[in-house]
Amino acid sequence: MLKKILFFVLIIGIAIAAVVIFNTIRFSKAIANKPSRELPNLPDSAISHMQQAIQYKTIGMGDGLPVDTAQYEAFWHFIEKNYPRVHQTLTHQTFNGLSRLYKWEGKHPDQKPYVLMAHYDVVPVEAATEKLWTVPPFAGLFKNDTIYGRGAADDKVSLISILEAAEKLLSQHFQPERTIYFSFGNDEETIGHGAQAIAKYLADNQIHPEVVLDEGGEITEENFRELKRPVALIAVAEKGYMSFNLSVEQHGGHSSTPAPETAIDILSKALVHLREKQMPYQFLPVIKEMLNRVGPGLPFVQRMAIANPWLFEKKLVSEFEKDKSSNALFHTTIVPTMIQTGVKDNVIPSMAKAVVNTRILPGTSIEEVEAFMNQQINDSRVKITRYSPPDKVGPAASYESTAYRKVESATYQIMKDVVPTPFLSVGATDSKYFQSNADAVIKFTPTIDAKGFHGIDERIGLSDLKRMVFFYQIILEEAGK
Ligand SMILES: [Zn+2]
Repeated sequence: MLKKILFFVLIIGIAIAAVVIFNTIRFSKAIANKPSRELPNLPDSAISHMQQAIQYKTIGMGDGLPVDTAQYEAFWHFIEKNYPRVHQTLTHQTFNGLSRLYKWEGKHPDQKPYVLMAHYDVVPVEAATEKLWTVPPFAGLFKNDTIYGRGAADDKVSLISILEAAEKLLSQHFQPERTIYFSFGNDEETIGHGAQAIAKYLADNQIHPEVVLDEGGEITEENFRELKRPVALIAVAEKGYMSFNLSVEQHGGHSSTPAPETAIDILSKALVHLREKQMPYQFLPVIKEMLNRVGPGLPFVQRMAIANPWLFEKKLVSEFEKDKSSNALFHTTIVPTMIQTGVKDNVIPSMAKAVVNTRILPGTSIEEVEAFMNQQINDSRVKITRYSPPDKVGPAASYESTAYRKVESATYQIMKDVVPTPFLSVGATDSKYFQSNADAVIKFTPTIDAKGFHGIDERIGLSDLKRMVFFYQIILEEAGK
């Protein structure tokens, strides 16, 4: 009897191994490659324009705090002066006071237009970190073939690259096949009213773009090292953005006679519980597609795991969960970002508050996130309310859409040996407001592993700037063909 059972187990083991190996071999095909082009030289003026753009302190303060509008207006004067052909040929309208929509009439104005997006507001530099920068963050200095400064990567480089490409093409008397709009937002980092107003204007006037292209995924050499080829993460969707207030009210009083639990204690425990566990993982189709495109070039063990999700899915996901960036592709994330309480060192406060920011996977509802938070905190003394209005995140763009194909084609041309793949943007962008009115919205910035987003030493290499200008040139030249 025992022999029979062992024999049976052995047969099952061999069958599983055979399926695993068969799937792995079938999956191990060569990844497509297409010829790239040599990047045209960058005029010196492009570099100095990028440096100057950084010098305008177009800082979004958030929470309705006033911004220095003179800096924003001066930025537009600088643009008008330095891109004279764009200024003369294209028409523009202002939205939300400081956002602009440029229109470049195409040869076939009856066809659906393209919208190229960027934003020129930047996040503040924390005073305590200013000294840690290699150069002052608003000096726009150039060092070792790199331009440093707040906004260098996020997202003044996109705005400048679009205008450089347009100015160059205009000098060659180029006119696009389709009408092209440039949508340049002034408050992406805070409330996105500029982009919302522009999106509304287009929808109200029955202007339905075929392609909307905004910042988003990047080219990465660091994240798939074993592949030995750069991967272009062309985001076809983004995570939702939602913040919540947590508040606790308790009797405060003199700190010499504390009660066993104060408002601060209760809030602290709630935050700890909230962070103890993540919401369950989801293996979204877009992430499966990414692994299907990149996987065939990975080492055998990784290839085997990706080719056999029926057996290895949990193991695969747990590997991705080890890194905070890839973890965010599988989970709705929940993290406290602000805490407010206390007025004096010898007074126990009667109120403690925190703001918790969540980034929600497509397909997960805000109610599900709220339910998870309530379940984790499990304390009725902690009141959870919505801090920001719910986000509207549209469906993912199809990999077959014109928008995806155009961006993919341009990416092959600007980057040797690149492997383009659909991707999920974990950050929020202004382009979400265009989703309901456009055929497809793509979020992609062809910089390579750019550094310093919202942090210290934000910077952009000259090679990135060069690649980006050429990228937009190709998008403009091939629009509507
Ligand atoms: Zn940005």
